[in-house]
Amino acid sequence: MGKRVFKAETKQLLDLMINSIYTNREIFLRELISNASDAIDKLKFNSLTDPDLVGEDSGFEIRIEIDKENKTLTVSDNGIGMSYEEVVDNIGTIAKSGSKEFLEKLKNSDEKSAQELIGQFGVGFYSSFMVADKVKLKTRSALLDPSDGVAWESTGDGNYNIERSEVERRGTSITLYLKEDAVKEHGLLSQYVIEELVSKYSDYIRYPVKMEVETVHPEEKDENGKVVKEKETVLEDKILNSMKPIWHRDKSEVTDEEYNDFYRHAFHSYDEPVDIIHTKGEGTVEYTALIFIPGTIPFNFYSSHYERGLKLYSKQVFIMEKCKELVPEYLGFIRGIVDSPDFSLNISREILQHSSQLKIIGKNIEKKVLGALKYMLENDREKYVKFWKEFGRAVKAGIYSDFGSNKDKLQDLLLFESTHSDELTTLNEYIKRMPEGQKEIYYVAGKDKTFLKNIPQMENITDKGYEVLFFTDKIDEFASAVLVSYQEKPLKNISASDLDLESDEEKKEKEEKRKAIEEKSKSLLETLKDHLKDEVKEIRLSSRLKNSAVCLVSGSDGISLNMEQVLSESPMSDMPPPKASRILEINPDHKVFVKLNEIYSKSPDSEKLKDYAEVLYNQALLIEGIVPKDPAKFALQISELISDAPA
Ligand code: ADP
Repeated sequence: MGKRVFKAETKQLLDLMINSIYTNREIFLRELISNASDAIDKLKFNSLTDPDLVGEDSGFEIRIEIDKENKTLTVSDNGIGMSYEEVVDNIGTIAKSGSKEFLEKLKNSDEKSAQELIGQFGVGFYSSFMVADKVKLKTRSALLDPSDGVAWESTGDGNYNIERSEVERRGTSITLYLKEDAVKEHGLLSQYVIEELVSKYSDYIRYPVKMEVETVHPEEKDENGKVVKEKETVLEDKILNSMKPIWHRDKSEVTDEEYNDFYRHAFHSYDEPVDIIHTKGEGTVEYTALIFIPGTIPFNFYSSHYERGLKLYSKQVFIMEKCKELVPEYLGFIRGIVDSPDFSLNISREILQHSSQLKIIGKNIEKKVLGALKYMLENDREKYVKFWKEFGRAVKAGIYSDFGSNKDKLQDLLLFESTHSDELTTLNEYIKRMPEGQKEIYYVAGKDKTFLKNIPQMENITDKGYEVLFFTDKIDEFASAVLVSYQEKPLKNISASDLDLESDEEKKEKEEKRKAIEEKSKSLLETLKDHLKDEVKEIRLSSRLKNSAVCLVSGSDGISLNMEQVLSESPMSDMPPPKASRILEINPDHKVFVKLNEIYSKSPDSEKLKDYAEVLYNQALLIEGIVPKDPAKFALQISELISDAPA
């Protein structure tokens, strides 16, 4: 009896706890409440075989008391309690494997990482010493008499005192004599701070966490407006936790309103989720997950400050706010909680990251969310479109993240604008509408649908009755570059140099015709190319134009003109952005081409040819939405042309 020395490793842990600058001290309360809740669980379990254990004191509760005068905070429970030997064993030693592992790690780490480690581990009862100079524990085992109670105290200096003591009520009460800074900086004597901490860390503890709080009762008036009771401030018990883990209730019993309430409360969001997934996993890993697909995108979603992740609980006790291992990056917008008994509270962040259970749960959640989205797409298009408008870009980014490994999972979920109608379309719907003979999926990429509709490259394709998708989001074309094809149909930019538009016969016929003209105009084309040698890689006759004189297409060997524009607007490095190779196509059936031939045959060295080549090239640039290098010169050339034109 009396003074005792902590076991060596316990002392080591205490020293660290006390001397480390610890940023997350507040978790001590979570640890004490969680121990209290476990103690009540144990009592309930034992009472199954021995009902007398509970007796009259059957209102299970955890109680917090603030004593401002003595600067103490007490957490008590009417759970199983401890015998003398149990206090020595449990509180004087570190028996838990989690804590042992923690110490092992500590031994091998430098000071800085030691601090990080302490932050990552919850270390149970001992965390009290982070906020308290002295801790007193009174306990009485439910199996023993009041006279068999135990009083234990320590200042965390390597010794503790223990003695038998009369303890009236079954269970354990732990009193923390708060450190100066715990009061001043952390406000641990403030009713409000404690309420917040309980609701943050222990909201779903199954037993009520009660505290006497000051409540203001407003004055009461009778029907004549006469005050019959003055306004008064009274001390009342308040339950600080909601106790209702909504995720552990049966789906069929939870109303939409309750889900939405929980969503708002737990994630401080004011939108209405578009979908809620409430699911259980059994088998290799046991877990319950409640996932929300938000209705609106978080304001900082695309900033580097945004943190993805789900809240992680173990048996209703909060472990972590944003566990990012549970959510693939491209689904970073989902919110929710996962509760799994397979995680110990004392598990470190580092171990957690590599936990195979976590990976399995993450994979299952990914599958569930993708399944829910697919279902929404097929059964509630309106809702899906709403979702898509908010998060479509994230899904598209998922196609090219992770080295394209997600594309099979995501390609069916994509929606695009198209020439077919004002509604968005999936690639599958596009394929179903493809007329016979169409071999590729066509798209046009640029900023704005209205101007893309009219670009010359469109003419021949829409004439054939082929549909064209509008890639108006910057990332569309990059995503499609990863997709390459869908249901074995290649995705093709209509401005690409190698479209496969015609049947083999048509192609042959056109090609022959083109070759014949090209042969005749060979030297003209060479002259024009010479005038534009710094701008284009090639000048050739076009088979895709109808009414327009020229258009630019990009070589099949590199990026497209649109990609070039996107990259130059948001450069990814200090390197100059890559350039698309430009091919200027001229419509051989257009009057412009006839005119060029006339001029060339009269005077192959005509200065006019140089001017016209430039004007045509700049025109083609403008059609693509690209400003000519020298707009003033271009304007002058056009004015000259008008002045020279016959009246
Ligand atoms: P852990 O809770 O991870 O086991 P702790 O250091 O917090 O580690 O507690 C050590 C042990 O002390 C517990 O396992 C439990 O047996 C006992 N204990 C702690 N708090 C209580 C309590 N309120 N009532 C009964 N036993 C307790």
